[in-house]
Amino acid sequence: MDKLTGLFNEINSIVSHPADAVKKFKAETGNHVIGCLPVYTPEEVVHAAGCLPIGLWGGQTKLTKTNKYFPAFACSIMQSVMEFALNGVYNELAAAIIPAPCDTLKSVGQDWLTAAPKVKAIHIVHPQMSAIPAGIQYTKSEIIHIKNEIEEITGKKITDESIHASIDIYNKFRKTMREFAQVAAEYPHIITPGIRHMIMKGSYFTEKGRYTSIVKEIIAELRKQNKVNWAGKKVILTGIMAEPSSLLDLFNDYKISVAGDDLAHESRQFRTDAPDAKCPYERLARMWASMDNCSLIYDPAKKRGQMLIDMVKKTGADGIVMCMMKFCDPEEFDYPIIKKEVEAAKIPLLYLEIDQQMQSVEQVRTRIQGFSESLGQ
Ligand code: SF4
Repeated sequence: MDKLTGLFNEINSIVSHPADAVKKFKAETGNHVIGCLPVYTPEEVVHAAGCLPIGLWGGQTKLTKTNKYFPAFACSIMQSVMEFALNGVYNELAAAIIPAPCDTLKSVGQDWLTAAPKVKAIHIVHPQMSAIPAGIQYTKSEIIHIKNEIEEITGKKITDESIHASIDIYNKFRKTMREFAQVAAEYPHIITPGIRHMIMKGSYFTEKGRYTSIVKEIIAELRKQNKVNWAGKKVILTGIMAEPSSLLDLFNDYKISVAGDDLAHESRQFRTDAPDAKCPYERLARMWASMDNCSLIYDPAKKRGQMLIDMVKKTGADGIVMCMMKFCDPEEFDYPIIKKEVEAAKIPLLYLEIDQQMQSVEQVRTRIQGFSESLGQ
Protein backbone atom coordinates (compact mmCIF):
# COMPACT_ATOMS: atom_id res chain seq x y z
CA MET A 1 0.00 0.00 0.00
CA ASP A 2 1.47 3.39 -0.92
CA LYS A 3 1.65 6.22 1.56
CA LEU A 4 -1.24 8.21 0.08
CA THR A 5 -3.57 5.22 0.22
CA GLY A 6 -2.55 4.67 3.83
CA LEU A 7 -3.35 8.30 4.71
CA PHE A 8 -6.71 8.13 2.90
CA ASN A 9 -7.55 4.90 4.75
CA GLU A 10 -6.69 6.53 8.07
CA ILE A 11 -9.04 9.44 7.36
CA ASN A 12 -11.74 7.17 6.00
CA SER A 13 -11.70 5.21 9.22
CA ILE A 14 -12.07 8.45 11.26
CA VAL A 15 -14.93 9.71 9.09
CA SER A 16 -16.72 6.35 9.05
CA HIS A 17 -16.50 5.87 12.82
CA PRO A 18 -16.61 9.27 14.55
CA ALA A 19 -17.88 7.68 17.77
CA ASP A 20 -14.67 5.63 17.95
CA ALA A 21 -12.62 8.82 17.53
CA VAL A 22 -14.52 10.33 20.47
CA LYS A 23 -13.98 7.28 22.70
CA LYS A 24 -10.29 7.04 21.73
CA PHE A 25 -9.68 10.69 22.56
CA LYS A 26 -11.37 10.32 25.93
CA ALA A 27 -9.47 7.14 26.76
CA GLU A 28 -6.09 8.58 25.72
CA THR A 29 -6.41 12.02 27.32
CA GLY A 30 -9.08 11.71 30.00
CA ASN A 31 -10.47 14.96 28.65
CA HIS A 32 -13.92 15.92 27.45
CA VAL A 33 -15.31 16.03 23.94
CA ILE A 34 -17.56 18.94 23.02
CA GLY A 35 -19.90 19.02 20.02
CA CYS A 36 -19.98 22.10 17.80
CA LEU A 37 -23.06 22.63 15.68
CA PRO A 38 -22.79 24.58 12.42
CA VAL A 39 -21.38 27.19 12.03
CA TYR A 40 -18.48 29.31 13.29
CA THR A 41 -18.30 28.19 16.90
CA PRO A 42 -15.08 29.33 18.61
CA GLU A 43 -13.48 25.88 18.65
CA GLU A 44 -10.17 27.41 19.68
CA VAL A 45 -11.51 27.95 23.22
CA VAL A 46 -12.55 24.29 23.46
CA HIS A 47 -9.13 23.26 22.18
CA ALA A 48 -7.41 25.54 24.71
CA ALA A 49 -9.19 23.67 27.50
CA GLY A 50 -7.60 20.40 26.29
CA CYS A 51 -10.99 19.16 25.04
CA LEU A 52 -11.75 17.85 21.57
CA PRO A 53 -14.24 19.92 19.58
CA ILE A 54 -16.11 17.79 17.06
CA GLY A 55 -18.46 18.92 14.30
CA LEU A 56 -22.13 17.93 14.52
CA TRP A 57 -23.29 18.22 10.92
CA GLY A 58 -25.86 15.44 10.88
CA GLY A 59 -25.45 12.28 8.83
CA GLN A 60 -27.48 9.54 7.25
CA THR A 61 -29.97 7.95 9.60
CA LYS A 62 -33.61 6.88 9.70
CA LEU A 63 -35.75 9.76 10.91
CA THR A 64 -38.37 8.39 13.30
CA LYS A 65 -38.42 10.71 16.33
CA THR A 66 -37.37 14.10 15.04
CA ASN A 67 -40.90 14.95 13.85
CA LYS A 68 -41.82 15.57 17.51
CA TYR A 69 -39.65 18.66 17.29
CA PHE A 70 -39.53 19.65 13.64
CA PRO A 71 -41.99 19.99 10.80
CA ALA A 72 -41.09 18.02 7.66
CA PHE A 73 -39.81 21.22 6.07
CA ALA A 74 -36.76 21.62 8.32
CA CYS A 75 -33.35 21.04 6.73
CA SER A 76 -32.13 17.45 6.79
CA ILE A 77 -28.91 18.34 8.69
CA MET A 78 -30.82 19.50 11.74
CA GLN A 79 -33.42 16.76 11.42
CA SER A 80 -30.65 14.17 11.67
CA VAL A 81 -28.82 16.08 14.43
CA MET A 82 -32.04 16.01 16.44
CA GLU A 83 -32.64 12.32 15.65
CA PHE A 84 -29.12 11.49 16.86
CA ALA A 85 -29.66 13.61 19.99
CA LEU A 86 -32.96 11.85 20.75
CA ASN A 87 -31.34 8.45 20.26
CA GLY A 88 -28.58 9.27 22.75
CA VAL A 89 -25.85 9.18 20.08
CA TYR A 90 -24.30 12.34 21.55
CA ASN A 91 -24.32 11.15 25.17
CA GLU A 92 -20.53 10.76 25.19
CA LEU A 93 -20.26 14.53 24.75
CA ALA A 94 -19.86 16.82 27.75
CA ALA A 95 -21.64 19.66 25.97
CA ALA A 96 -22.78 21.00 22.63
CA ILE A 97 -22.15 24.55 21.48
CA ILE A 98 -25.19 25.72 19.53
CA PRO A 99 -25.13 28.92 17.49
CA ALA A 100 -28.27 30.59 16.20
CA PRO A 101 -27.62 31.99 12.73
CA CYS A 102 -30.89 30.69 11.22
CA ASP A 103 -34.42 29.94 12.45
CA THR A 104 -33.85 26.18 12.44
CA LEU A 105 -30.78 26.45 14.64
CA LYS A 106 -32.63 28.80 16.99
CA SER A 107 -35.17 26.00 17.46
CA VAL A 108 -32.44 23.39 17.94
CA GLY A 109 -30.96 25.51 20.73
CA GLN A 110 -34.25 25.33 22.63
CA ASP A 111 -35.22 21.76 21.68
CA TRP A 112 -31.84 20.46 22.82
CA LEU A 113 -32.73 21.02 26.45
CA THR A 114 -35.36 18.25 26.34
CA ALA A 115 -34.02 16.21 23.41
CA ALA A 116 -30.54 15.71 24.88
CA PRO A 117 -30.80 16.50 28.60
CA LYS A 118 -27.53 14.63 29.35
CA VAL A 119 -25.52 16.91 27.06
CA LYS A 120 -25.20 20.47 28.31
CA ALA A 121 -26.25 23.10 25.76
CA ILE A 122 -23.97 26.12 25.45
CA HIS A 123 -25.54 28.84 23.34
CA ILE A 124 -23.77 31.45 21.27
CA VAL A 125 -25.32 34.28 19.31
CA HIS A 126 -23.24 36.03 16.66
CA PRO A 127 -23.96 39.73 16.21
CA GLN A 128 -25.01 40.80 12.72
CA MET A 129 -23.10 44.09 12.82
CA SER A 130 -19.94 42.21 13.69
CA ALA A 131 -17.33 44.81 12.66
CA ILE A 132 -18.55 47.86 14.58
CA PRO A 133 -17.00 48.37 18.06
CA ALA A 134 -20.20 47.24 19.79
CA GLY A 135 -20.25 44.11 17.59
CA ILE A 136 -16.66 43.23 18.49
CA GLN A 137 -17.43 43.82 22.15
CA TYR A 138 -20.53 41.65 21.95
CA THR A 139 -18.74 38.76 20.20
CA LYS A 140 -16.01 38.90 22.83
CA SER A 141 -18.58 38.65 25.60
CA GLU A 142 -20.19 35.63 23.90
CA ILE A 143 -16.83 33.86 23.58
CA ILE A 144 -15.96 34.63 27.20
CA HIS A 145 -19.33 33.14 28.17
CA ILE A 146 -18.34 29.93 26.32
CA LYS A 147 -14.98 29.92 28.08
CA ASN A 148 -16.73 30.20 31.45
CA GLU A 149 -19.08 27.32 30.62
CA ILE A 150 -16.18 25.09 29.57
CA GLU A 151 -14.22 25.97 32.71
CA GLU A 152 -17.23 24.86 34.71
CA ILE A 153 -17.26 21.51 32.88
CA THR A 154 -13.52 20.83 33.21
CA GLY A 155 -12.99 22.49 36.58
CA LYS A 156 -9.85 24.15 35.16
CA LYS A 157 -9.01 27.73 34.20
CA ILE A 158 -8.43 28.49 30.54
CA THR A 159 -5.61 31.00 30.31
CA ASP A 160 -5.19 33.70 27.68
CA GLU A 161 -1.87 32.09 26.72
CA SER A 162 -3.49 28.73 26.02
CA ILE A 163 -6.16 30.36 23.83
CA HIS A 164 -3.46 32.25 21.90
CA ALA A 165 -1.61 28.94 21.38
CA SER A 166 -4.79 27.22 20.16
CA ILE A 167 -5.59 30.11 17.79
CA ASP A 168 -2.11 29.74 16.31
CA ILE A 169 -2.68 25.99 15.83
CA TYR A 170 -6.01 26.75 14.13
CA ASN A 171 -4.46 29.41 11.90
CA LYS A 172 -1.87 26.84 10.75
CA PHE A 173 -4.68 24.33 10.15
CA ARG A 174 -6.65 26.88 8.10
CA LYS A 175 -3.60 27.75 6.01
CA THR A 176 -2.86 24.06 5.37
CA MET A 177 -6.45 23.34 4.35
CA ARG A 178 -6.39 26.26 1.90
CA GLU A 179 -3.19 24.85 0.45
CA PHE A 180 -4.75 21.40 0.24
CA ALA A 181 -7.78 22.77 -1.65
CA GLN A 182 -5.43 24.36 -4.16
CA VAL A 183 -3.14 21.34 -4.58
CA ALA A 184 -6.09 18.92 -4.77
CA ALA A 185 -7.32 20.74 -7.87
CA GLU A 186 -4.01 19.99 -9.59
CA TYR A 187 -4.43 16.23 -9.11
CA PRO A 188 -8.06 15.52 -10.06
CA HIS A 189 -7.14 11.97 -11.17
CA ILE A 190 -6.15 11.23 -7.54
CA ILE A 191 -8.28 13.59 -5.47
CA THR A 192 -11.77 12.68 -6.64
CA PRO A 193 -14.71 14.77 -5.37
CA GLY A 194 -15.40 12.03 -2.79
CA ILE A 195 -11.81 11.90 -1.50
CA ARG A 196 -11.64 15.70 -1.36
CA HIS A 197 -14.81 15.80 0.74
CA MET A 198 -13.55 13.00 3.01
CA ILE A 199 -10.32 14.90 3.71
CA MET A 200 -12.29 18.06 4.53
CA LYS A 201 -14.63 16.11 6.78
CA GLY A 202 -11.94 14.26 8.73
CA SER A 203 -10.90 17.53 10.37
CA TYR A 204 -14.19 17.63 12.29
CA PHE A 205 -13.23 14.60 14.42
CA THR A 206 -9.51 15.05 14.92
CA GLU A 207 -7.40 17.38 17.05
CA LYS A 208 -6.42 20.14 14.66
CA GLY A 209 -2.65 20.04 15.26
CA ARG A 210 -2.63 16.34 14.41
CA TYR A 211 -4.90 16.83 11.44
CA THR A 212 -2.69 19.58 10.06
CA SER A 213 0.24 17.11 10.09
CA ILE A 214 -1.83 14.47 8.26
CA VAL A 215 -2.94 16.95 5.57
CA LYS A 216 0.62 18.28 5.20
CA GLU A 217 1.74 14.70 4.53
CA ILE A 218 -0.99 14.31 1.90
CA ILE A 219 0.10 17.54 0.20
CA ALA A 220 3.75 16.43 0.20
CA GLU A 221 2.83 13.02 -1.25
CA LEU A 222 0.61 14.60 -3.90
CA ARG A 223 3.43 16.85 -5.03
CA LYS A 224 5.54 13.77 -5.76
CA GLN A 225 2.90 12.45 -8.19
CA ASN A 226 2.77 13.11 -11.92
CA LYS A 227 0.22 15.64 -13.10
CA VAL A 228 -2.04 14.61 -15.97
CA ASN A 229 -3.99 16.59 -18.53
CA TRP A 230 -7.47 16.34 -17.08
CA ALA A 231 -9.79 15.29 -19.88
CA GLY A 232 -12.94 15.96 -17.87
CA LYS A 233 -14.56 19.18 -16.63
CA LYS A 234 -14.06 21.18 -13.44
CA VAL A 235 -16.63 22.87 -11.21
CA ILE A 236 -16.90 25.09 -8.16
CA LEU A 237 -19.26 23.81 -5.47
CA THR A 238 -21.28 26.29 -3.40
CA GLY A 239 -23.85 25.78 -0.65
CA ILE A 240 -23.96 24.34 2.85
CA MET A 241 -22.55 20.87 2.22
CA ALA A 242 -22.22 18.19 -0.43
CA GLU A 243 -23.50 14.96 1.10
CA PRO A 244 -24.31 12.09 0.93
CA SER A 245 -20.98 10.99 -0.49
CA SER A 246 -22.75 8.81 -3.10
CA LEU A 247 -23.73 12.13 -4.68
CA LEU A 248 -20.08 13.04 -5.14
CA ASP A 249 -19.40 9.66 -6.72
CA LEU A 250 -21.73 10.74 -9.51
CA PHE A 251 -19.42 13.65 -10.34
CA ASN A 252 -16.66 11.10 -10.67
CA ASP A 253 -18.79 8.93 -12.97
CA TYR A 254 -19.14 11.87 -15.37
CA LYS A 255 -15.52 13.01 -15.09
CA ILE A 256 -16.30 16.21 -13.23
CA SER A 257 -13.68 17.29 -10.70
CA VAL A 258 -13.88 19.95 -7.99
CA ALA A 259 -11.69 22.98 -8.72
CA GLY A 260 -12.70 24.76 -5.53
CA ASP A 261 -15.59 25.17 -3.16
CA ASP A 262 -17.62 27.68 -1.24
CA LEU A 263 -19.33 25.18 1.06
CA ALA A 264 -20.13 26.08 4.66
CA HIS A 265 -18.93 22.59 5.65
CA GLU A 266 -15.64 22.97 3.79
CA SER A 267 -13.79 26.12 2.64
CA ARG A 268 -15.92 28.65 4.52
CA GLN A 269 -14.52 27.04 7.67
CA PHE A 270 -10.93 27.91 6.87
CA ARG A 271 -10.78 30.82 4.48
CA THR A 272 -10.43 33.45 7.23
CA ASP A 273 -7.63 33.53 9.82
CA ALA A 274 -7.67 35.07 13.27
CA PRO A 275 -5.55 38.24 13.19
CA ASP A 276 -2.94 39.14 15.79
CA ALA A 277 -3.99 41.08 18.88
CA LYS A 278 -3.05 41.21 22.56
CA CYS A 279 -6.37 39.81 23.72
CA PRO A 280 -7.30 36.31 22.44
CA TYR A 281 -11.01 37.11 22.51
CA GLU A 282 -10.34 40.17 20.37
CA ARG A 283 -8.57 37.91 17.85
CA LEU A 284 -11.57 35.57 17.62
CA ALA A 285 -14.09 38.43 17.51
CA ARG A 286 -12.15 40.16 14.72
CA MET A 287 -11.96 36.91 12.77
CA TRP A 288 -15.76 36.65 12.90
CA ALA A 289 -16.00 40.31 11.88
CA SER A 290 -13.88 39.74 8.78
CA MET A 291 -15.75 36.66 7.54
CA ASP A 292 -17.78 37.20 4.42
CA ASN A 293 -19.66 35.69 1.49
CA CYS A 294 -21.77 33.27 3.49
CA SER A 295 -25.57 33.14 3.60
CA LEU A 296 -25.37 32.98 7.40
CA ILE A 297 -23.41 36.21 7.68
CA TYR A 298 -25.14 39.58 7.33
CA ASP A 299 -24.05 41.03 4.00
CA PRO A 300 -26.23 43.81 2.54
CA ALA A 301 -23.92 44.05 -0.50
CA LYS A 302 -24.43 40.33 -1.37
CA LYS A 303 -21.02 39.80 -2.95
CA ARG A 304 -21.11 35.99 -3.05
CA GLY A 305 -22.16 35.79 -6.72
CA GLN A 306 -19.17 37.89 -7.78
CA MET A 307 -16.88 35.85 -5.53
CA LEU A 308 -18.02 32.68 -7.32
CA ILE A 309 -17.49 34.28 -10.72
CA ASP A 310 -13.96 35.25 -9.64
CA MET A 311 -13.31 31.69 -8.42
CA VAL A 312 -14.34 30.31 -11.81
CA LYS A 313 -11.97 32.71 -13.58
CA LYS A 314 -9.10 31.99 -11.21
CA THR A 315 -9.38 28.19 -11.31
CA GLY A 316 -10.44 27.80 -14.94
CA ALA A 317 -13.56 25.94 -13.82
CA ASP A 318 -16.22 25.12 -16.41
CA GLY A 319 -19.20 25.83 -14.22
CA ILE A 320 -20.74 26.21 -10.76
CA VAL A 321 -22.84 23.67 -8.88
CA MET A 322 -25.27 25.08 -6.32
CA CYS A 323 -25.65 22.38 -3.66
CA MET A 324 -28.94 23.62 -2.26
CA MET A 325 -29.68 22.11 1.12
CA LYS A 326 -33.40 21.35 0.97
CA PHE A 327 -35.41 23.75 3.18
CA CYS A 328 -32.41 25.95 4.01
CA ASP A 329 -33.88 29.47 4.06
CA PRO A 330 -30.59 31.43 4.18
CA GLU A 331 -29.25 29.67 1.07
CA GLU A 332 -32.59 29.98 -0.71
CA PHE A 333 -32.54 33.74 -0.11
CA ASP A 334 -29.05 34.03 -1.67
CA TYR A 335 -29.73 31.83 -4.67
CA PRO A 336 -31.78 34.17 -6.95
CA ILE A 337 -29.07 36.84 -6.67
CA ILE A 338 -26.29 34.35 -7.39
CA LYS A 339 -28.22 32.85 -10.32
CA LYS A 340 -28.80 36.24 -11.93
CA GLU A 341 -25.15 37.27 -11.64
CA VAL A 342 -23.68 33.93 -12.70
CA GLU A 343 -25.98 33.67 -15.70
CA ALA A 344 -25.15 37.25 -16.71
CA ALA A 345 -21.49 36.20 -16.65
CA LYS A 346 -22.45 33.29 -18.95
CA ILE A 347 -21.15 30.65 -16.54
CA PRO A 348 -23.01 27.31 -16.61
CA LEU A 349 -24.86 26.74 -13.33
CA LEU A 350 -26.32 23.50 -12.02
CA TYR A 351 -28.86 23.58 -9.18
CA LEU A 352 -28.89 20.39 -7.12
CA GLU A 353 -31.22 19.85 -4.21
CA ILE A 354 -29.35 18.24 -1.33
CA ASP A 355 -30.99 16.03 1.27
CA GLN A 356 -28.65 14.12 3.59
CA GLN A 357 -31.25 11.39 3.87
CA MET A 358 -31.75 10.81 0.15
CA GLN A 359 -31.96 7.07 -0.40
CA SER A 360 -31.25 7.08 -4.10
CA VAL A 361 -29.18 9.50 -6.12
CA GLU A 362 -30.48 8.31 -9.49
CA GLN A 363 -32.60 11.42 -10.09
CA VAL A 364 -29.54 13.51 -9.37
CA ARG A 365 -27.59 11.33 -11.78
CA THR A 366 -29.81 12.47 -14.62
CA ARG A 367 -29.20 16.12 -13.75
CA ILE A 368 -25.43 15.71 -13.44
CA GLN A 369 -25.31 13.74 -16.69
CA GLY A 370 -27.31 16.48 -18.45
CA PHE A 371 -25.03 19.17 -17.02
CA SER A 372 -21.95 17.24 -18.08
CA GLU A 373 -23.31 16.98 -21.63
CA SER A 374 -24.13 20.67 -21.69
CA LEU A 375 -20.48 21.34 -20.83
CA GLY A 376 -19.50 19.45 -23.98
CA GLN A 377 -18.55 16.04 -22.54
S1 SF4 B 1 -28.27 27.29 7.72
FE1 SF4 B 1 -29.58 26.02 6.47
S2 SF4 B 1 -28.67 23.99 6.56
FE2 SF4 B 1 -27.78 25.17 8.23
S3 SF4 B 1 -29.08 24.73 9.99
FE3 SF4 B 1 -29.90 26.58 9.06
S4 SF4 B 1 -31.48 25.89 7.63
FE4 SF4 B 1 -30.20 24.09 8.17
